[in-house]
Amino acid sequence: MQKDQLFTRRRMLLAGAAALGAAGTAGLVMAGSEEAPPRPAVLAGPQARQVLKPSAYRLQPLTGYGPPRTPPRRLTVRHEPILRISTRGRHMMLTFDDGPHPDYTPHILDTLAKYDVRAMFFVCGEMAVDNKELLARMADDGHVVGNHTWTHPLLTELGRRDIRDEMERTSDVIEDAYGERPQWFRAPYGAWNRAAFQLGAQMGMEPMAWTVDSTDWEEPGTRTIVDRVESGAAPGVVVLSHDAGGDRSQSVRAIREYLPYLLDSGYRLTVPSRRT
Ligand code: ZN
Repeated sequence: MQKDQLFTRRRMLLAGAAALGAAGTAGLVMAGSEEAPPRPAVLAGPQARQVLKPSAYRLQPLTGYGPPRTPPRRLTVRHEPILRISTRGRHMMLTFDDGPHPDYTPHILDTLAKYDVRAMFFVCGEMAVDNKELLARMADDGHVVGNHTWTHPLLTELGRRDIRDEMERTSDVIEDAYGERPQWFRAPYGAWNRAAFQLGAQMGMEPMAWTVDSTDWEEPGTRTIVDRVESGAAPGVVVLSHDAGGDRSQSVRAIREYLPYLLDSGYRLTVPSRRT
């Protein structure tokens, strides 16, 4: 299959996933249940092109592969990350950070596919660049990929230019491998600062944190991870897990147990619908 055909197929799948998501996806709320301020109206189509400066456009590849790159839509700057999804039903969201990793991520993807469940992956650029085929699979399987910086630094110790570089390079590699730029961002270690919120908004990314930490990063044993997720289960909960950054075989085994448990308990695992 030609590369451009692959992209077309992925985009069709993404569009299909987004349509499903729009029907069945819960909304998102900020920390403290505050409502986000209204976003400015966004022009679409030819009007939008007229108001953008030429410098806002990225260089297009000469070969013409893939969809045309569009500049990200600026978002309203938040002051706190999103911690949970707002839902009237039993919706939860699974998120996996720090990958993709060839030893662990494929097993997690296999388990998600077995139960026909979508999840979010907050990837690091330095991992993504060596594992682009895993991002392509995430696109094919309908998962949502977010930006988790290039090298996983403590953003609170970086200057604005370095933070921008960490985020922008990662969005670039995600766009190349996944087929579109990320619309979600998660700060490493959950350490947010004003620059991260501002730069994320400029790049069209909402800040997403989590509600329940599976503590899999401590490698506490599969049973403990399963217990944390199952005891933390509640409507609107966003679960933090990891598919890289250490030995994640416990995380791989844990999802095989807690995912069917959550489904049997009546939870629907969801991902955010794509903003257009
Ligand atoms: Zn992380």
